[in-house]
Amino acid sequence: MDFYNVLRMGHRPERDKRVTTHVALTSRAFGAKKMYLHRSDSRVIETINNVVSKFGGDFTVETTTNPKKTIKEWDGKIMHLTMFGLPIDDKLVEIKNVKEPILVVVGAEKVPPWVFEYSDFNIAIGSQPHSEVSALAIALSKLNEDSYNQNFEGPIQVIPSGERRNMVDISKSED
Ligand code: SAM
Repeated sequence: MDFYNVLRMGHRPERDKRVTTHVALTSRAFGAKKMYLHRSDSRVIETINNVVSKFGGDFTVETTTNPKKTIKEWDGKIMHLTMFGLPIDDKLVEIKNVKEPILVVVGAEKVPPWVFEYSDFNIAIGSQPHSEVSALAIALSKLNEDSYNQNFEGPIQVIPSGERRNMVDISKSED
């Protein structure tokens, strides 16, 4: 699904590597196509490429040094997730009716005021501070109930089990 893309703003490589990696993993697992990463971090990109090569999908991480340009040039709508925004449930019908691709913006450090200004929707998942990972997961699953049931055709497939970890590597079993 090409509809949702994510912009991770304000990544600080020295302290945000793990959370930014989780933002990317959550973006992929909940059906987004791409994450734009504000500030380059090859460790995040390597980890995500490794997950994609094992578990499939065509999710990519693209570095941007100019998030304002990414937002201004976005051909679609901008949804900024912020605790200061309007409750998602009040805007759900409107956002679900959007026909153009949506760029979902999440912060790390404090986002600059122009992000509020350039966004079509400033949306809160509750009005308490929590996490960009939880905000993103809840927003994507509210907008598309099946968002986390992605079927990626990777070589490694998880076999759901109530008892144990179970995976098959279909690249090995096919010859
Ligand atoms: N300290 C930063 C500030 O003052 O803006 C916020 C840090 S917060 C951990 C990082 C990101 O999580 C925010 O930029 C926002 O995208 C997201 N976030 C946190 N709580 C949220 C909420 N209640 N609703 C929507 N997004 C939220």
